[in-house]
Amino acid sequence: MTLQVFGLPVSRGVAIGRAVLVASSRVDVAHYFIAPDQIPHEIERLRQARDAVADEIERLKREVPDDAPPELVALLDVHLMLLHDETLTGATKQWITERHYNAEWALSAQLEVLARQFDEMEDDYLRERKADIEQVVERLLRAMSRQSVSTLAAVSQTRERDWGGEEPLVLIAGDIAPADMLQFKRSVFQGFVTDVGGRTSHTAIVARSMDIPAVVGAREASRLIRQDDWVIIDGDAGVVIVDPSPMVLEEYRFRQRQSQLERERLARLRHTPAVTLDGEQVALLANIELPQDAPAALAAGAVGVGLFRTEFLFMNRQGELPGEDEQYEAYRAAVEAMQGLPVTIRTVDVGADKPLERMSMSELRHEHTLNPALGLRAIRWSLSEPSMFRMQLRAILRASAHGKVRLLIPMLAHANEIRQTFEILARAKQQLRDAGVAHTDVEVGAMIEVPAAALQLPLFLRHFDFISIGTNDLIQYTLAIDRADEAVAHLYDPWHPAVLRLIADAIRLARQAGKDVSVCGEMAGEPAFTPLLLAMGLRSFSMHPSQIPAVKQRILRSDTQKLALHLASVLASDDPHAESKRLWTPGREAAAERAFSP
Ligand code: PEP
Ligand code: MG
Repeated sequence: MTLQVFGLPVSRGVAIGRAVLVASSRVDVAHYFIAPDQIPHEIERLRQARDAVADEIERLKREVPDDAPPELVALLDVHLMLLHDETLTGATKQWITERHYNAEWALSAQLEVLARQFDEMEDDYLRERKADIEQVVERLLRAMSRQSVSTLAAVSQTRERDWGGEEPLVLIAGDIAPADMLQFKRSVFQGFVTDVGGRTSHTAIVARSMDIPAVVGAREASRLIRQDDWVIIDGDAGVVIVDPSPMVLEEYRFRQRQSQLERERLARLRHTPAVTLDGEQVALLANIELPQDAPAALAAGAVGVGLFRTEFLFMNRQGELPGEDEQYEAYRAAVEAMQGLPVTIRTVDVGADKPLERMSMSELRHEHTLNPALGLRAIRWSLSEPSMFRMQLRAILRASAHGKVRLLIPMLAHANEIRQTFEILARAKQQLRDAGVAHTDVEVGAMIEVPAAALQLPLFLRHFDFISIGTNDLIQYTLAIDRADEAVAHLYDPWHPAVLRLIADAIRLARQAGKDVSVCGEMAGEPAFTPLLLAMGLRSFSMHPSQIPAVKQRILRSDTQKLALHLASVLASDDPHAESKRLWTPGREAAAERAFSP
């Protein structure tokens, strides 16, 4: 039966494929595809875990005190029985052999299937046995996590997917940590859906960088959709259609072809310089998460990297952070891959919805930090770990010997944070000088993403060479909306007059001071904001490579002088979005559009 699930559109286009459900588990579960020759190895891991858990349960049975209730032993017997039941282990093996899932993923996928069957049982007693199967699976997952295999090593070997199936796949999950999302980055999924998350949550940002249709905050999706269901993801409307009728499927296949044609048309703009109708040059830069993203940035026509989110190098390291040399190699790889174009490397921004260890949003919110978005994140974390911070700064400075590097500091708000940052930077430079290590004097920029920083911009302009406006956080902190929380996503409003006022003032003051200013939040990659940001005087936009062509098209069709005439009325409006649409819809520039159509 066809059903629809509604969420928030994150990444444009239409994806059609069979659902792959990534179950949420209380145990840290890595999801990755294995190469065909690893299948026996994964099955062996499953067998070893089963034997270990069987021993564990037998031992528990032996240790049950004499006065314990008899149900306890009976329960352990049920667990043993479940452990050896073919519907658990046999079917799990099938996920490994047929779908090439790693053992943990296969096990949690099968748990999902069984849990639904239990949920549908009429008999209360049987329905409650779901908890037993969950406990058994949890024991198996824990046993596997004790095995000596390094999951990360396995992931890095199998980043390129080995799945040999014919049918397209889409990913459906309750919640995916940003670091997990990264593992899927080079996979075959054609689209993805999560139950939780806001449009600018980091999971959504990584998904957007994958350039596949995506919907987040779809609340019930992972409960309503089953493994292997046919699913349409409409990334423009934020709708997921499950088990569509042939007619609906045909309609979406048509839209899919149309959007592919549109992409191909826009891709032809790659070598066209981003210059407005009145001759203003605009720099279109790329946001990247890993050095491996640099080729996509070049391919999209980016003139540099405006934001390298280095925290992704720090995630899921099982407590062991990357050392100086490893970081240096990663930064150098990005710098060299950009072939002489500037690379803006942001120091680590962990915390909030980017924890160091793989953790779901609900774990983060409820078990770890009371309010992670307001907690020890970004520069606050770096300043609390000065030797780690110095190490990162040294690694970035060393990479500057291989190309044009700019250093960017996230989430500054206080004068004393600025002072401490520069002290630590000076010390890092001194250490490199003392050791005779090559580096250059990089430009240093501040992210303006806390209202306190935006309101105190002259202080920042005195200390920094450039500023970069992080609109994702600036909106979150101005409106007091957790950007990762789908429950308040409807209040996350980039068009809010207070937000626009802060951005407009920051751009104006930076330009007056002769300092470089760019926007690197998601607003920069949304063509709907292009006229507004141009009118504010912005000439440097940093976004996911996939968004560059559409923004460039909008720039080619714009006349900044004409746009600027209306800026005051948009900023003064109670409804800047409506006013902007009224004044700056592409229809008004129709003649110019025709002249510049690729
Ligand atoms: C921002 O806050 O706008 C930004 C670019 O940083 P991040 O999304 O990584 O927090
Ligand atoms: Mg930010």
